[in-house]
Amino acid sequence: MISVQNLHKKFGAFRAVDGASLEIKTGSITGLIGPNGAGKTTLFNVIAGRLPPTSGRVKMDGRDITGLPPHELFHKGLLRTFQIAHEFGSMTVRENLMMVPENQSGETLWNTWFKRGKIADEERRIRNKADEVLEFLTISHLADQKAANISGGQKKLLELGRTMMVDAKIVFLDEVGAGVNRTLLNTIGDAIIRLNKERGYTFCVIEHDMDFIARLCGPVICIAEGKVLAQGTVEEVKNDDRVIEAYLGT
Ligand code: ADP
Repeated sequence: MISVQNLHKKFGAFRAVDGASLEIKTGSITGLIGPNGAGKTTLFNVIAGRLPPTSGRVKMDGRDITGLPPHELFHKGLLRTFQIAHEFGSMTVRENLMMVPENQSGETLWNTWFKRGKIADEERRIRNKADEVLEFLTISHLADQKAANISGGQKKLLELGRTMMVDAKIVFLDEVGAGVNRTLLNTIGDAIIRLNKERGYTFCVIEHDMDFIARLCGPVICIAEGKVLAQGTVEEVKNDDRVIEAYLGT
């Protein structure tokens, strides 16, 4: 579904991504691993339209999506979450979810004045959807809490929830496990697996926690120095001499 072909991203003379080619298959939970500074986040940013590549192509279902801005990719169902969650702290958890869907009728003054009934219907529909998402993620009890007051792990769940407010096809998750306690990490892992199995989401996951990768991921791709070093099952990649060497070298 996503095909990255000979991708390069330079910062000045420095090659953060240096000719990476890889595929993320529809329906997979693909793990992206590699030592710090390997170029994983930069690769994510280029695929997700946050950084233009220096050269190379990104395709989605055979169509060229190289360099498309994030909002266009959003409409194609390609989303990314961030290592640092981007919640709006002064709003409640439910409100954070409700503001995700675009083109809500209430957003223009015209509609606010003349189509009140329609707005109320739409708001009810979005609110119901938000409540369904919270239930799916087992955090209904947090619906009315200010997002600033929930834990780091709960914020990660909220980020995942935001992808469920729109019809995401493929979600790029950047270190969902960082700084999250084991219990919440399991909840996040369960949610990812269920979204994959029950709702057909494809995931690409950057993660350092190898237990988490082993539990979730089908194919695993190891990146080092901006290049794909190895790919295969978790066991294959973990035992690959080049991968071991790359990790030991850091
Ligand atoms: P990873 O996610 O694998 O830890 P990154 O993609 O964050 O790696 O970074 C790869 C390399 O590119 C690092 O050496 C980093 O310092 C460098 N880098 C990342 N972003 C920039 C930038 N905006 N300007 C200059 N160098 C950058």
